[in-house]
Amino acid sequence: MHTLISIDTVRGPFVREIEEISGQNLLACNQCGMCSAGCPVASAMDMLPSQVIRLAQLGMEEALTAGGRGDTTVWLCASCLACATRCPKGVDLPRVMEALRQIQLRRGAVRMDLDALPPQLARALPQVAIVGAYRKYLK
Ligand code: SF4
Ligand code: SF4
Repeated sequence: MHTLISIDTVRGPFVREIEEISGQNLLACNQCGMCSAGCPVASAMDMLPSQVIRLAQLGMEEALTAGGRGDTTVWLCASCLACATRCPKGVDLPRVMEALRQIQLRRGAVRMDLDALPPQLARALPQVAIVGAYRKYLK
């Protein structure tokens, strides 16, 4: 099922929630693509960061949450800030990505199963990496 673009989606609760959590004005983005051009993780993403913010502007919740085309981008984003430093419009895209993750976590999505982590790997990984992932992927 696809969500139709309408005034109800563009000015809907999903867009307001993203803007409230991120503190960003989504409509400030003019789709120049500078963020995507500088993103070090873009090659692994199903959708470019600039496409994610476009869908966020339009309130395309289905595409940006679990199972949607933008979902991998939201979770692969490493919060490296490269896009934020390149954006000519002053959009802090990592905050938008974090808001999209928070929205899913608040709705009960769990992105990391600690019990599925092999004990050998758990012993080998730096503790800070596990704690960092725990904070990012669990509510
Ligand atoms: S660099 Fe900024 S203005 Fe350009 S597409 Fe990315 S978020 Fe939008
Ligand atoms: S903060 Fe995320 S979206 Fe922005 S450049 Fe880094 S990995 Fe890409």
